Amino acid sequence: MSQLITIASNNAHKISEIAAVMPAGFQWQSLLQAGISEDLPEPFETLEENSFSKAFHIWHHYGLSCFSDDTGLEVEALDGKPGVHTAHFSGSRDANANMDALLKALEGKTNRNAQFRTVATLIIDGSTFSFEGIVKGIIAIEKAGTNGFGYDPIFIPEGYDQTFAQLSEEVKLAHSHRSKAIEKVVAFINTIND
Ligand code: IMP
Repeated sequence: MSQLITIASNNAHKISEIAAVMPAGFQWQSLLQAGISEDLPEPFETLEENSFSKAFHIWHHYGLSCFSDDTGLEVEALDGKPGVHTAHFSGSRDANANMDALLKALEGKTNRNAQFRTVATLIIDGSTFSFEGIVKGIIAIEKAGTNGFGYDPIFIPEGYDQTFAQLSEEVKLAHSHRSKAIEKVVAFINTIND
């Protein structure tokens, strides 16, 4: 494919996860590689609006076709929270503090069902497309494992009895919310380039 896509993120973990599921020949660059150093705000109350606004900013200000995503951890017993506030659930962006806050909020609750949901936006030559990726699982009783980032040490994906942080990178890539959203993006791009 000939289209160059700018990934609207400078999160190294995220970029490497995205790169790992991009097919060979797919041309992409990070924000830094595109020479863009600004942080993209996520000021809205839905994943959909935040994802769109980041992609729209890159298209509108730089004229680049781009991909953006916004992810939330949606916990059933907390009516879908932390959701769009996942990155700063504890009041800080510290991953350990956020996990501690979530474990505390779930203390005494038997329903620990949760899902990571990614909303991806693709803007190609001014046309906007939206994709969703979900991985269902449960919130562990305590943290375990050191792989990955964010809430990985307390998220046990469906079909496993270990957290994302204990499971291998391959397993996470095969099942993650982000991978699922990106696979849909890639399938779509391949279709329009046929
Ligand atoms: P973002 O929209 O991708 O920046 O994700 C928002 C927040 O969700 C991050 O700051 C992390 O705390 C959490 N998060 C997103 N993706 C993952 C993941 O794959 N594993 C664990 N936590 C994640």
